[in-house]
Amino acid sequence: MRGADIAIIGGGPAGLTTGIALLRARPDLADRVVLLEKARYPREKICAGALGERGWQVLESLDAAPNVPHVPISAIRLDTRQASIQAGGGLLGRVLRRKEFDAALADRARALGLRIEEGCALESLVENEGSVRIETTSGVLDCAAVIGADGVGSKVRRALGLPVGRLRAMVLEVDTAAAPGDPARDVLRFDATQPDLPGYYWDFPTLVDGEALWCRGLYLLRVAEGTERGMAPADHIPLKERMAAYLAARGLDLDAVRNKRFAERGWEAPVHPVQGRCLLVGEAIGIDPVTGEGIAQAIECGRDLGRFLARCPLEPAALARWASVHRRSRLGRDLWVRRSLLRPCYGPDRDRLERRLAGNAALLSVGCAHWAGRAPPIGDLLKGLGQLALRMLTGAPPRQLQ
Ligand SMILES: Cc1cc2nc3c(=O)[nH]c(=O)nc-3n(C[C@H](O)[C@H](O)[C@H](O)COP(=O)(O)OP(=O)(O)OC[C@H]3O[C@@H](n4cnc5c(N)ncnc54)[C@H](O)[C@@H]3O)c2cc1C
Repeated sequence: MRGADIAIIGGGPAGLTTGIALLRARPDLADRVVLLEKARYPREKICAGALGERGWQVLESLDAAPNVPHVPISAIRLDTRQASIQAGGGLLGRVLRRKEFDAALADRARALGLRIEEGCALESLVENEGSVRIETTSGVLDCAAVIGADGVGSKVRRALGLPVGRLRAMVLEVDTAAAPGDPARDVLRFDATQPDLPGYYWDFPTLVDGEALWCRGLYLLRVAEGTERGMAPADHIPLKERMAAYLAARGLDLDAVRNKRFAERGWEAPVHPVQGRCLLVGEAIGIDPVTGEGIAQAIECGRDLGRFLARCPLEPAALARWASVHRRSRLGRDLWVRRSLLRPCYGPDRDRLERRLAGNAALLSVGCAHWAGRAPPIGDLLKGLGQLALRMLTGAPPRQLQ
């Protein structure tokens, strides 16, 4: 294997965007950077593939947005026990297949000069004086910095002695035909009507090999014991049985379709995204624990890290600044806010929050704008906050979506 100064482990959106942003800023480093991906593209990644325009815009700004089949999304619907609301307008985001998206993004990265070694997995790493030695399935490499972009099961994170994380989610997804009651094909539906579930069901329109299907799933957060006051671990909730019941209510059979199960890691403070010469990015650090949204986060984190590396001497004292750069970034602040919403959304006060927000489509519209990377619509923001204040004062009943 040819040597490199920087080895990026993992070729998902975080690793690829790190490489792209780094080489956009420092094309002269092309010979000194390598990305190692254990699979070969196009490889499957279990993921519903809903990417807000916020993430897409980051790729466009790097001239790296790939041309892949997708379903354009212009509205979001949220069902709770209290009410169903829908908001949106214009292009908010898209649903793509990760198999196609990641392969096309890797092609864009290669076109920009990134060396990608496929079928090459990191096995172990040891930090020595002045370098990191990594052992891979294709040989040994000594480098000045290693980037852990290897996702939820990150070996780099484990090698640094960091815990897997206390905000873990289990997720089960399937692709099915349309069912009665599905929304229009430009709408993402979130179903949070089950009060005992720290999580939600989803129904997203998707395109599988050109066929118009629905990607449906259950996101179930499993907060470790003692992490959040009033939130018990949801280990007793059977993912498969609950998903089977959700599908059965729509006339669909879980056993008749391929079940895809995977974990997610929620972002937690304090963050430890760097140790010595090893830096973490994307889900190796953590993603939004409330919704499990992680593609845009991985892309934004990769962009931030790529730009940071472009101007950083490859020495531990300088690399250590990645922790504060990440924490103070737009993404770091956004993840901090989302982490703080965990208890209101899934903790003991959930019922009260749901009643206060019930029917508040104006605040959902603000959330849609955020997902789409747009400025918050001031009219909706004021209206939404006004409705919330009124509800807190009067407890007026919600308006139901027809
Ligand atoms: C069922 C499910 C549905 C989801 N739906 C959505 C959604 O709709 N929208 C959304 O925004 N997010 C969604 N997510 C979250 C999203 O998929 C992840 O947060 C996102 O992929 C993280 O990107 P990443 O680049 O950090 O890691 P990954 O995409 O996981 O990429 C890691 C890469 O590292 C490689 N790798 C791993 N170990 C090694 C090794 N030892 N050596 C070399 N390479 C290695 C892997 O092969 C992989 O290519 C979903 C997740 C799940 C599980």
